[in-house]
Amino acid sequence: MCGRMTYKRELDIAIKAVARACGLCTTVQRTLVTADTVAKKDRSPVTVADFGVQAVVAADLIAAFPDVPMVGEEDASQLRGADGAALRGKVCTAVRAIDPRLSEQHILAAIDYGTYTGGASGRHWALDPIDGTKGFLRGDQYAVALALVENGQVVLGVLGCPNLPMRAADPEGPRGCLFFAQRGGGAFQRTIDAAESTPIHVSAVDDPAQATFCESVESAHTAQDDSARIAQRLGVTAPPFRIDSQCKYAAIARGDSAIYLRMPTRADYEEKIWDHAAGAIIVTEAGGRVTDITGAPLDFSLGRTLRNNRGVVATNGLLHDRVIAAV
Ligand code: AMP
Ligand code: MG
Repeated sequence: MCGRMTYKRELDIAIKAVARACGLCTTVQRTLVTADTVAKKDRSPVTVADFGVQAVVAADLIAAFPDVPMVGEEDASQLRGADGAALRGKVCTAVRAIDPRLSEQHILAAIDYGTYTGGASGRHWALDPIDGTKGFLRGDQYAVALALVENGQVVLGVLGCPNLPMRAADPEGPRGCLFFAQRGGGAFQRTIDAAESTPIHVSAVDDPAQATFCESVESAHTAQDDSARIAQRLGVTAPPFRIDSQCKYAAIARGDSAIYLRMPTRADYEEKIWDHAAGAIIVTEAGGRVTDITGAPLDFSLGRTLRNNRGVVATNGLLHDRVIAAV
């Protein structure tokens, strides 16, 4: 397989960008998320981190790959003009703590770099600056998710998970994981700061009764009652592992959990490519399978959303057909 080194430079730059962005997130979560903001359900801390991460990551990608556009969740319109001045100031402060050279102009332009429409031809990045905003606001799990899409296929993915324990078996142990994969090259985990990485693999569980499944914490994002019925039909006995963000894909990829169910809550919701691209390739390269709830592959070639897919099912592969049948 010649895939191993194909995206080496892209992967190096993507990993560095995500690692830097994780530094911004950690600082913002530590300084701006307080008992008071949690109690008031104040979204302002995550707003600063969302824009800040998109600026830091996009600035790195633009510098290295000026011809590759980006589909990002955010754009800078909310930060412009007099109305945006206060938030703009906070975002610039957070970004300059990571990269003091970036001017206000540069930061706004980098955020607006994410307005690309995506599609089937050529290369583009897909970025979710803070996936799992609700988790971030609760002080729980969230992820910085970056992927490279080439001719409609995800070819590289990086997930930065600043609060995730390195080992699920040691939840009080060291936290802060970075996962990455490129097509044909396997999937890996490392700490956010150290470059040394270890290969990861999905779980070997082939008996659903021994499997655990994970799903979103937020009942607005997945139909938890449907998942419960599917789990029952499969004979899964363990309670659901609820965790925000693409940390669910990371949990499947390193074998903490064998099944990720994302059951549609409404007929008209279109999943966003930035919510799945990085996680999906990391699971696939770790030996798992990712489809929608009908068993169809996720189609990243249609623009900013997965409009031909319904929900998501990710598994260790061994259980996939049985899960789809139960769905
Ligand atoms: P999670 O952390 O798994 O709950 O997923 C967070 C993501 O859910 C956000 O990034 C949103 O883009 C996405 N989202 C928002 N509304 C919905 C919905 N109705 N169904 C599925 N996902 C949604
Ligand atoms: Mg998201």
